[in-house]
Amino acid sequence: METKILGRSRGWLDSAKALIEAGEVVAFHTETVYGLGANAFSDEAVLKVFALKGRPADNPLIAHVHKDYDITPLIDGEPPYAAALRKAFLPGPLTMVYPSTGKVSKYVSCGLNTLAIRVPSSPTAQAFLKAVDLPIVAPSANLSKHVSPVTARHVYDDFNGKIPLILDGGACSGGIESTVLDCTGEIPQILREGLVTQAMIAEVAGECNVYRPRTGEKPKSPGMAYRHYAPRCKTAYFMAEELEEAIACYKNEAKTGAPCFLCESAVCALLKGFRTLDLGGTPEEMARRLYALLRKGEQQATLLIGIEPREKGGVMAGVMNRMKRAFGVEHGTEER
Ligand code: AMP
Ligand code: MG
Repeated sequence: METKILGRSRGWLDSAKALIEAGEVVAFHTETVYGLGANAFSDEAVLKVFALKGRPADNPLIAHVHKDYDITPLIDGEPPYAAALRKAFLPGPLTMVYPSTGKVSKYVSCGLNTLAIRVPSSPTAQAFLKAVDLPIVAPSANLSKHVSPVTARHVYDDFNGKIPLILDGGACSGGIESTVLDCTGEIPQILREGLVTQAMIAEVAGECNVYRPRTGEKPKSPGMAYRHYAPRCKTAYFMAEELEEAIACYKNEAKTGAPCFLCESAVCALLKGFRTLDLGGTPEEMARRLYALLRKGEQQATLLIGIEPREKGGVMAGVMNRMKRAFGVEHGTEER
């Protein structure tokens, strides 16, 4: 199968709509990462997404809709804070988990009685979702466990010949996946951290918790249990205070291979004469650059050495979660 990459051009949405209606999979730009889209009402199309990614069958998908799509038939009620959160943050990088009416394919939520819904702000995503006027499941458009894609080229690298179309909206401005928020309880609870932070949600909803599974407990957001975002080269990970050890590790690899550091700008400045990939200086910059640099690193280095950024909290909570899991430092309760 030929994989086409189409930017905004005449007929681009007609092709996408026809493919989705035929049960095919279409990748598309969002403001967080590229998604692998399929009709959420179709069992066959949803199963195709799992098969293409090699995604574990117990890791549920998020349904994406355009900003005027009426979600009331899909959800079985909602708490009072949900409307305020939608008004404050949608369209945008916030996924809200509601009680489900079970109208979409049973494979979307993998047996959970909830449904995760997101309204992306990307003009490309909005145009596509409006054209199909259906809820579209869209996990990140990467092979399972690989680094999430933030350009159409990244999607092509993982799925060339396997999907018919990628809707190119340029590089993703957000860079890490949406915040996943459980809106089934009295107090909203973050299941996956992202660009919409705990403090931002608490300001609108009054309160907001962050869910942390206890060791051995099946996580509420099953995707959080897996090693994820992993570059396809050796990795090592150090704290900023361990720079000497990190340099020793680099020098050892340099005898036979091609090591490279991945670290924030301030640390890059201390590493003159070494190969570095610069994550940037602000949390937003680090979110935007992380996946692109992990993909660049795996192509250029035999060993990628991550140095933990010093800033924590807010947007950094989401960045750190991805970075640690990419480097295999922390990956939930079980490895798959
Ligand atoms: P991805 O689309 O690959 O970025 O992953 C989607 C994330 O949303 C995973 O962490 C899933 O576990 C989570 N998710 C999707 N649907 C639900 C749901 N109904 N309840 C809880 N978490 C969900
Ligand atoms: Mg993913």
